[in-house]
Amino acid sequence: MLDTPIEYLKGIGPQRAEVLKKELNIFTYRDFLTNYPFRYVDRTVFTTIKDIHDESQYVQIKGVVDSLEVVGLKQAKRLVVWFRDNTGVIELVFFKGYNWMAQKLKVGQEYVVFGKPSSFKGKYNLAHPDIDLVNNDFLSQQSAFQAVYNSTEKLKIKGLDSEGIRRMMRVLINQLQPQHIEETLSEEVKQDYKLIDRYNAFIQIHCPENAEQLKQAELRLKFDELFYIQLRLLKLNKVRAVTVRGFVFIKVGPLFNDFFNNYLPFELTNAQKRVLKEVRFDVGSGRQMNRLLQGDVGSGKTMVALMSMLLAIDNGFQTCIMAPTEILAQQHAVTFKEALNPLGVEVAILTGSTKAKERKIIHTKLLNGEIKILIGTHALIEDIVKFNNLGLVVIDEQHRFGVAQRAKLRAKNVLPPHMLIMTATPIPRTLAMTLYGDLDTSLIDELPPGRKPIKTLHFMENHRLRVYGFMREQIELGRQVYVVFPLIKESEKLDYQNLQQGYDNIIKEFAPPNYQISIVHGKLSNEQKDFEMQRFIKGETQIMVATTVIEVGVNIPNASVMVIESAERFGLSQLHQLRGRVGRGAEQSYCLLLTGYKLGADSRLRMETMVRTNDGFEISEVDLKLRGPGDIEGTQQSGVMDLKLANLAQDGQILQLARQAAQTILDEDVNFESEKNKIYNKQLLLQQKNRPNWSKIG
Ligand code: ADP
Ligand code: MG
Repeated sequence: MLDTPIEYLKGIGPQRAEVLKKELNIFTYRDFLTNYPFRYVDRTVFTTIKDIHDESQYVQIKGVVDSLEVVGLKQAKRLVVWFRDNTGVIELVFFKGYNWMAQKLKVGQEYVVFGKPSSFKGKYNLAHPDIDLVNNDFLSQQSAFQAVYNSTEKLKIKGLDSEGIRRMMRVLINQLQPQHIEETLSEEVKQDYKLIDRYNAFIQIHCPENAEQLKQAELRLKFDELFYIQLRLLKLNKVRAVTVRGFVFIKVGPLFNDFFNNYLPFELTNAQKRVLKEVRFDVGSGRQMNRLLQGDVGSGKTMVALMSMLLAIDNGFQTCIMAPTEILAQQHAVTFKEALNPLGVEVAILTGSTKAKERKIIHTKLLNGEIKILIGTHALIEDIVKFNNLGLVVIDEQHRFGVAQRAKLRAKNVLPPHMLIMTATPIPRTLAMTLYGDLDTSLIDELPPGRKPIKTLHFMENHRLRVYGFMREQIELGRQVYVVFPLIKESEKLDYQNLQQGYDNIIKEFAPPNYQISIVHGKLSNEQKDFEMQRFIKGETQIMVATTVIEVGVNIPNASVMVIESAERFGLSQLHQLRGRVGRGAEQSYCLLLTGYKLGADSRLRMETMVRTNDGFEISEVDLKLRGPGDIEGTQQSGVMDLKLANLAQDGQILQLARQAAQTILDEDVNFESEKNKIYNKQLLLQQKNRPNWSKIG
């Protein structure tokens, strides 16, 4: 029944069906049924006319019709009804069906009208409100919660505004029988988690009789969505643990020990030690490691990666690390070469700008096993890059890469190499569980000692001179300063102008020869970028003017001031990443956010959040609330986007329960063999069919 094309629903027909398909992607009864209300209005509450204000949403008014009249000519022809309660008069306006309406309405009769007020020439009106005659059983018929559905202009023309959709939904709900709705959870789970039947959930989500019914319906349907994502991810993890064998790194060998005892430039933090232990356990277990390493900017993930790589090399394997930008890859190359020079480990770098001749040499040396560590960008995943014996892959700033790229690196040896996947963009726990629920996770929750928390200040543009003054002070103290301009993807040209202008301003303020200034942006060649970066790294320049190319990973400890121009144009996670470029040395660091004077509520909250906290996880929670998961990198392909009801910013508790339920089932019966669990096999297969992407994940 649910697969019936929507045009067969009484009252829909081919024309409306066409629009439903185009506008809301609704093809079948099932699609229609899962087109959930986006909110509910309470029809037991009344508003008086004098209390209507500009922000009034839907209002319900009880009153009488004073008079009515068809006015205007041609297209502007309309019925105006003057509707009065004890406090005032409001106009009801009808542009369509007004003859019929004019006949139906009786002057002096009492009605209840319901609609969304808008104001025209200082007066409020309701266009095409719902109208009900007030009689004895009017109130008893009204449910407190009436569903409101998304609609579009094209749907409204076809009579499918929220009200129209609600009417059609009632038609469908009236036909719906329990056997039409397939149950997706076992009786056991329903009992354990106090969930109502799926059939009832659908009825109650569209036509709740009270708040409790609505709550039950939402809980059940959200649980379903989250449960199946978790079941799939946790199953993947379990199956991999059993079936995917990994290389075994038996020993902690001479390279690791030599480095640890003689060349480690600092004492590892406890968090770094703990993560290394977790990695060592994984790579010694015989199963292939898939470990996500989360750690805030500057927490020292690189060293964990490097030492894990030494473990691999000690056991006869090669390793590689992939970074999202050329600058970052270059920087890793410098760090790695410096650290590993005394040990005689051969390190090579391969990026888009590696010359053909050099490339050839690298390919050969990879194949014969001479190169132990390959550092690079996307260039690493190309098929032509073949290893002799790749044992460990590190992916840095993983949120910049897709699942497919991970998969390509997995395929570069007979058994999949171990994977250490690093991310500095802290993401909320709920999102991590959903995006990376199939991975084991490690967390570096401690910064290296001696770091002073970065001080963040927010300035309006008219205080720019104070900002410049502060920059000058800091430079006099020997520090270096970043000035970052936003990059809008839509208009590279505009960005460039913006940047140039900013650069000119800075030059005016900080004129050479007293000060030296570097500039880095997307239009420079890699050589030029590198040249400018190097000048800054060596301390030859004091100010680095840049677009966000410097956002991820760049590590220059003497740079202690980050000025972010037009900060309101950046997202929270980007601001946090940028701020993370400073605070890497022993000096007190500062982040100065410059914004325009007029700020929207969202921008204000972003600035306040940045000023208030340095905690990446706290920031990520606010970010998720502001943006929703759809705009957060890495959420495509993840199933997060299939969530129709569940909201990761709000439904953390339900997610926790759903994950627990999934885990319990898998612990007992990973292949869903028992009678009560057969249902899960079937559902997962069904979903997989509808989501081909899923089969590729991991
Ligand atoms: P991220 O986690 O953002 O990638 P990095 O690995 O770039 O951070 O480390 C940031 C800085 O902290 C580097 O300069 C690094 O040398 C330094 N660092 C890392 N671990 C420690 C430690 N345990 N003690 C002192 N400094 C450290
Ligand atoms: Mg890093």
